[in-house]
Amino acid sequence: MKTPLPDYLEHVLDECDGDDSGHLADYIPELANASPHRLALAMSTVDGEIYSVGDDDVEFTIQSMSKPFTYAYVLQQLGIDEVLEKVGVEPSGEAFNEISLGKDGRPKNPMINSGAITTHSLIPIKDNISSAEILRQFMSELAGRELCFDDSVYHSEIKTAYRNLSIGYMLRTVGILETDPVDIVNGYIRQCSILVTVKDLVRMGSVLANGGVDAQTGKRLLNRSVVRQVLSVMMSCGMYDAAGDWLTTVGIPAKSGVAGGILGVLPGQVSIAAFSPKLDEHGNSVRGIDMMERLSRDMGLHLMEGTPSAQTIVQSHYRTGQNASLSVYVLRGVLKFTEAEMLLRIFQREPVDQSTIIIDLTQISLIHDVGKRMFLEGVDRLIDDGHSLLLVDPEQRLDHARTHKDRVLHVYQDLDDLLEQKKGHHN
Ligand code: GLU
Repeated sequence: MKTPLPDYLEHVLDECDGDDSGHLADYIPELANASPHRLALAMSTVDGEIYSVGDDDVEFTIQSMSKPFTYAYVLQQLGIDEVLEKVGVEPSGEAFNEISLGKDGRPKNPMINSGAITTHSLIPIKDNISSAEILRQFMSELAGRELCFDDSVYHSEIKTAYRNLSIGYMLRTVGILETDPVDIVNGYIRQCSILVTVKDLVRMGSVLANGGVDAQTGKRLLNRSVVRQVLSVMMSCGMYDAAGDWLTTVGIPAKSGVAGGILGVLPGQVSIAAFSPKLDEHGNSVRGIDMMERLSRDMGLHLMEGTPSAQTIVQSHYRTGQNASLSVYVLRGVLKFTEAEMLLRIFQREPVDQSTIIIDLTQISLIHDVGKRMFLEGVDRLIDDGHSLLLVDPEQRLDHARTHKDRVLHVYQDLDDLLEQKKGHHN
């Protein structure tokens, strides 16, 4: 069987192909030379599978989609508090290149130019490597290949960068920038000129979707708290002054760029990227938005739709053994707060006696930290009530449970073997 996903993406591409509206960004002269017909779409699952269609090998400049990655880099290097001292997290409701500051004297957020120029200035320089080169290396690591700068787009933007320079001088005047604003704006513009394809973007995005871990190498590249901060700001501020519209219609944390790219990241699920150079009045890709809207609708990706919690954390519960003295719970699915709460309520029904409780975790696909803590608390209380607890956890995901509150929990590999052993023991 061939998975239908590429066919579906192809279908979305075809549906949006006919729309010729919008205009090419021309305030960066080189961007006005882009082929307006280019169209590409890609998707990466959290476990690193990439699907892509259309002009998926065509490179274009990352532009403002570099902003969340620069933000991630400085958060990772300096910590959230230090970065917050310089850049806020409030949506601005203004155009991306507005020459303005928040009332508290900081740029309102890192997704508009004033905030992005500021985050660029925070990159710690070492070994005489330029800030833009540090970012190129970082983004290359996320993309899993060596990315390059587009020199002609860079030079073209530098020649007409009056507005970004004004922002730089404003930031220097109020002390948000602490060094030469011309150097910082140059570095920022170079960062925007990094070339990517939609495939690169979804791979970079999947590290964010996957809580900071590169699924293909298994390497942790960003802390979970950094990823949460970046995605939150993408959600509220990523789509320029159309952020509210985007939140209600698409509902996926995203960032767009004036070369026509849009990257969306749905935590724990997918990253998607679209490319089509013609832009709407907010500076977002017209066909890119259309494709993202369709994907969100068709695949139920809107963040606010939430995933109904599995009502089936307990796949089965039965009593067995002599005098039905063994109470067996087979669990399945994801163990997060909601499921753990449900489970604790079920455990509450266990009569207070000396019976043995067996809990089989083999089919639990993911245990969240809070799920683990709540589960162990429940186990502890069952022991307090006088029960013996036996866990089937072949992958040892509750490893430290053995010494939880100094109690030795017995962990087994296989439910059938354990039952065999227990029943044999009773007979
Ligand atoms: N380099 C562009 C600028 O700073 C990026 C803008 C964008 O993609 O929104 O004006």
